[in-house]
Amino acid sequence: MRPTGKLHLGNYVGALDNWVRMQDQYDCFFFIADWHALTTDYADTSSVKQNSLEVAMDWLATGLDPERCTMFFQSHVPQHAELHLLFSMITPLGWLERVPTYKEQRENIKEKDLSTYGFLGYPLLQSADILMYKGDFVPVGEDQVPHVELTREVARRFNSIYTKQTEVFPEPKPLLTHSPRLPGTDGRKMSKSYGNTILLTDPEPVVRQKLKTMVTDPKRIRRSDPGDPDCCPVGDLHKIFSTPATMAKVYEGCRSAGIGCIECKGWAADALVQILNPIQERRKKYESNPRLAWDILEAGSARARQVADATMQDVRSAMTISLEYEPTQAKAPESQ
Ligand code: SF4
Repeated sequence: MRPTGKLHLGNYVGALDNWVRMQDQYDCFFFIADWHALTTDYADTSSVKQNSLEVAMDWLATGLDPERCTMFFQSHVPQHAELHLLFSMITPLGWLERVPTYKEQRENIKEKDLSTYGFLGYPLLQSADILMYKGDFVPVGEDQVPHVELTREVARRFNSIYTKQTEVFPEPKPLLTHSPRLPGTDGRKMSKSYGNTILLTDPEPVVRQKLKTMVTDPKRIRRSDPGDPDCCPVGDLHKIFSTPATMAKVYEGCRSAGIGCIECKGWAADALVQILNPIQERRKKYESNPRLAWDILEAGSARARQVADATMQDVRSAMTISLEYEPTQAKAPESQ
């Protein structure tokens, strides 16, 4: 996860909530991708570290547990850079140029100059991030599947060039986790760049205020107009967070104009507050002592470095560039 600062409900529904469950099913590695942040934010790096810490605190508050998974900072495991470099030697440029998110972001992010080597290569850095841990699965959304596909191609190419018997890298598969689309307060997908988020750290009055201004079914103009929760972003929130009983009241009340939007939004806020309260409660410990979160991630980084070290030994050895001294074999003189 990129360190974008305090996380919002979209991050929770789209990733974190799944991750918390996954830590009991798999041997999980989760990292804060601070080097990835530099691929777009290289001109102003002043907030990368603080943002990383905010993400770490949100992870811990949400329930990621250092006893059950490995959490680390990417930049604290420099082996990722070495593997990225070695992969860059064998990766055709065309593979990177055709990654859909590369083209999209070049077109959409006009305010930053992204004609850099680092930006083109970031999916390859992701490949290094994944293959370093010889991951079998990568939990991703639909839009990231091409990145996992690139990673599979890189693994295949590395294995075919350098591996004689046992393959160094398994080919990871995308683990498509069901994550419903979460609307922001303006009805578009919740995203920091749209300024429409509800943060995991927003206090209850702020959550209620944000909900009050949230857009609703555009066809329901007056209180007496019936509406449709299936055409309303607040309805989408209910579907994700509310109980079936509340959901039934929303459908009935909205379609018969028996309830007003203010009342309906109040119920949605109640459901959100129920989710956010325990997260905010757990976060307090880390807010009063951020060093605690830092140390947990640093201990995770030490564990990750051990695994990364073993992988890099396999990689160097497959490429016959191990760091050990090996006496050169004297060539036999050619016979006349
Ligand atoms: S009553 Fe609820 S679901 Fe219906 S339009 Fe208003 S906010 Fe949306």
